[in-house]
Amino acid sequence: MGLIVILICFGVGGGLIGKAKGSSFFLWFLISFCVPFIGLLTAIVYRSDKDELRRQCPGCGRVVKIHDAICTRCGTELDFPDVAIAPESQARRRAGAAAESAG
Ligand SMILES: [Zn+2]
Repeated sequence: MGLIVILICFGVGGGLIGKAKGSSFFLWFLISFCVPFIGLLTAIVYRSDKDELRRQCPGCGRVVKIHDAICTRCGTELDFPDVAIAPESQARRRAGAAAESAG
C-alpha cells in the first residue's frame, strides 16, 4: 500500500513538472508513475522546444533554434548570435500580459 502512495507522489510530481514545461500532465504522470526515479528525472531534464532560445538567420530571415549551426532553409552557416530571440513560451506570456494591461 505504501508503495502505491509513493508511486502516486512521483506521478503527481512528474506530471506537475511536465505541465509546467508546456507538456501533458497526464503523460508525465504516467511516465513518472511507471518508472518513478527515471521518469521524474526525465521530466526535470526534459526541455520543451517552446523554451528554446531562438535567433534569426541573416541570410533568409528564418527563425531557427539558437543552437542550430546551419540554417535549415538556405544553408547559411550561423555563428552564435549576440542577440537571441525570446523563446515562444516567454513571447506568448509577454503578449498575454500586454493584452491584459491594454484591456
Ligand atoms: Zn537562412
